[in-house]
Amino acid sequence: MEIKSIVLRHVKMDLLHPFTTSVGTEYDKDFILVEVKSKSGLSGWGESVSIIEPIYNEETVKTNWHMMNDFLIPLLLKEPIQHPDDVSERFKPIRGNYNAKAALEGAIWDLYAREMNLPLSKALGGTKDKIEVGVSVGIQESEAKMLQNIEGYLTEGYKRIKVKIKPGWDLHILEAIRKEFPDIPLMADANCAYSLDDIEHMQQLDQFNLTMIEQPLACDDIIDHAKLQAELKTPICLDESIHTAEDARKAIELGSCKIINLKIGRVGGLTESKKIHDLCVKNNIPMWCGGMLEAGIGRAHNIAITSLANFTLPGDTAPSSHYWKHDIISPEVEMKDGWIFVPNEPGIGFEPSLSKIDDVTLYSKTYRR
Ligand code: MG
Repeated sequence: MEIKSIVLRHVKMDLLHPFTTSVGTEYDKDFILVEVKSKSGLSGWGESVSIIEPIYNEETVKTNWHMMNDFLIPLLLKEPIQHPDDVSERFKPIRGNYNAKAALEGAIWDLYAREMNLPLSKALGGTKDKIEVGVSVGIQESEAKMLQNIEGYLTEGYKRIKVKIKPGWDLHILEAIRKEFPDIPLMADANCAYSLDDIEHMQQLDQFNLTMIEQPLACDDIIDHAKLQAELKTPICLDESIHTAEDARKAIELGSCKIINLKIGRVGGLTESKKIHDLCVKNNIPMWCGGMLEAGIGRAHNIAITSLANFTLPGDTAPSSHYWKHDIISPEVEMKDGWIFVPNEPGIGFEPSLSKIDDVTLYSKTYRR
């Protein structure tokens, strides 16, 4: 692949509905879009999942821009890339900053797949032609509102319901959901809101027959999660704690989790995602793809990785209309009866809509080789 230029765009889009977790509420989303143009005339696209504040991880839109501008793009433009797997090697001297790395690497993967005339899903080794879709329900203003929303999502066809929990919004809300919907696939995501002092409290979650409890303890922990898992019947799923295949290996060896939520941005890209997938296959750890309120380009990458065989649980890759009035791709991501079809077109399989992207772009910068 001969890269001709790279365009960064800082874009801002309004969310259709505010989204609240144990760490805060988001009303709109600033993020960075990456377009890598090759001498062949094709473009590959990537999207960074970082937001304005460092509340999910330590990265932000500004740190992404700084890392890409000052370090990562100069490394990419230094010499030609033979294969997208080379990108993570090239980025190795730069520590951390996984969201920034993943956005650039994702654009290279898309470009590679387009140049090979292959769907990105196939280029990654994906085998599924459709993926199961779950929905993530943020913390609501009332229990009644929560139940009403869940009812609506079940009618739309979502295959599982995930609710965000935090101390004070947990047992009573799960009890109310189970009373109304005794048999639905249900899970809870704590986004690190508890500590080992809460073991007895967490044990009460076992009565609700949850598919899993996601990231109950600290974002940098795998040791205490092993202690908690030993005391819980409900499987623990790790999200924030897993940044690399090595993290996943250690968590699996320690017994810190029985399920892994993969986010491409959190682990630095699709090459590392494949490594984590293959490690989980070897260790019988089921996976699913998490969400970071992505717009269409990030969402398309999530669909592609979810087509790999070990993504056996419904992910958070809801359709475009769940988040946005107008998405920035054509066609938009659509769901039918709780399924999203994996596109057969080359690359991410959705065309970025340049006019819609222009409408939401605050500023951009072009880097030439
Ligand atoms: Mg999570």
